[in-house]
Amino acid sequence: MADVVIIGAGHAGVAAAAQLHKRDANLSICLISNEQPLPYHRPPLSKKALFDELLPLELLQAEGFYQAQNIHLQRGATVTHIDRTQRQVTLADGQVLTYTQLIIATGSSLRPMPVAGGERAMGVYNYADIQQLGPRLQAAHNILVIGGGFIGCEIAAGALKLGKNVSLLVSGPRLLRKSIAPAMGEQVTQLHKHSGMHIHTNCHVSHLDDDGVHTNQGVFSGDLIIAGVGANPNIELAKQAGLTIDGGIVVDAFGQTSDTHTYAVGDVASMPLQGKTQRLESIQNANDQAQSVANNIVSHRQNEPARAYNPVPWFWSDQGDLKLQMAGLNDVSAEQKILASDSDTRMTAVQFSKGVMTGVDTLNMPGNHLAARKLLAMSVDITWDMVQDHNQDLKQLFKKLR
Ligand code: FAD
Repeated sequence: MADVVIIGAGHAGVAAAAQLHKRDANLSICLISNEQPLPYHRPPLSKKALFDELLPLELLQAEGFYQAQNIHLQRGATVTHIDRTQRQVTLADGQVLTYTQLIIATGSSLRPMPVAGGERAMGVYNYADIQQLGPRLQAAHNILVIGGGFIGCEIAAGALKLGKNVSLLVSGPRLLRKSIAPAMGEQVTQLHKHSGMHIHTNCHVSHLDDDGVHTNQGVFSGDLIIAGVGANPNIELAKQAGLTIDGGIVVDAFGQTSDTHTYAVGDVASMPLQGKTQRLESIQNANDQAQSVANNIVSHRQNEPARAYNPVPWFWSDQGDLKLQMAGLNDVSAEQKILASDSDTRMTAVQFSKGVMTGVDTLNMPGNHLAARKLLAMSVDITWDMVQDHNQDLKQLFKKLR
C-alpha cells in the first residue's frame, strides 16, 4: 500500500515525487518506470547525446536521491492495468500495488512515420533509441531527416556539425511552420541552408523502400534515414480504466482526472488553458504541472484548499549555433511584430491577439525571452504601443511595469 503511486518516471513523474516528499516527508511514494536507466533529462538526447556516445546520461536526480527521499523507484517495471474501484495498479510481473492517490505521468511515445515502409526511418524519444541510433549516425555519411519540427531540426543541425551531408525533408514551406512566428521560421530556414543543410520544403513523403524516401520531388536516398514527426500521448492505460480522454487524459485546473483519486500530469494531460482543452509537450509544463498536482494532493490530505495551475508556457530548442526560445502559447495566425535587431542571427517576434501580447519567440536573444516570460506572467495587457514607447526593449518595459 502506497499513499501515492506515480506511473512514469520522466520529468513530470520525478518532479511530482520530489515535491510530494518535500511537502510531506511521511508520505509513502511509489514511482514506476518502464525504462531501465535512472530517470534522465530528455532534451539533451536530440541536442547532444545522439552525437557523442561518450556523454553520460544527464540524470534528473542523483542516484541516492530516491532512497534518501523515501521514494520507492521501480525501474524496468511496466504498469499494465489500473483498477479504479480497488484503487490498485498491476505491473507486468504480476505485482499489485494499492494506492490512495494515483498520478499518471506516462508521457508520450515516438510517432511512427505514417506511410508504407515508415519503419525504415529511425527516431529519437528515449535513451534506448540513442543507443541504437548513435553508432549508426557516427558511421553514416549521407543522412536524410524527415520532419521540420523542433526534433527534426535539432537532429539535422547536430549531424551537420559532425560533418555529415544532411538533407532535411519538410512538408511545409519553411521549418517550424506550426511552432514559431513565420518570419523567424523563414530566418531559421535560411540560416540552416547557409550552414550547408540541404532543405527541401513542400516535400511530401509517399513511402519508403529499398531505394530510399519517395516524395513528390523524387526519390531521396541516404545511408541513414531519421524521422522526427512528433509524439503520441500514452493514454492507453487511462482509456482502459475509463477515464475521460480528449487528445490526452482530461484534467481540471487542479490536475484531477474524471476520477477524484487520479491525477494526470505532463505530456499526457489535456488541461484547460486559455479557453481550450489542450496538451503541452514541454519541460516547463511537465515540471510545473507536476509540482502543482503534488501540492494539491498534500493540501487535500491536510484539508487545505487546492490551487489552480495557470502557467505561462515556455519552450526552447538548440539547433547548432541557434538558440530558439518561445514564451506564451504559440499562435502562428496572430498578428506578428518583429523587433529591431542588429544581426540576422538575432531576432524577436512578438505576437498580439486582439491587440494584446500573447507570445514572444526569440532567436539568440535570451534576455528578451526572460523579460517576455515575466511580462506575460503580469496581469497587465501589453500592447504594441507600450513596446514602442520603450524603444522595443522588453527588459526596459518589464522594469517600468514591475
Ligand atoms: P516522458 O518524458 O515521456 O516520461 C514518461 C515516462 O513514463 C517514460 O519514461 C515512459 O517510458 C514511462 N511510461 C509510459 N508508460 C508507462 C507504463 N505503463 N508503466 C511505467 N512507465 C511508463 N521539451 C522542452 O521543453 N524543451 C526541449 O528542448 C525538448 N527537447 C526534447 C527532445 C526530445 C528528443 C524529446 C523526445 C522531447 C523533448 N522535449 C523538450 C519534450 C519534453 O521532453 C517532454 O515534454 C517531457 O519529457 C514530458 O515529460 P513527461 O514526464 O510528461 O513524459
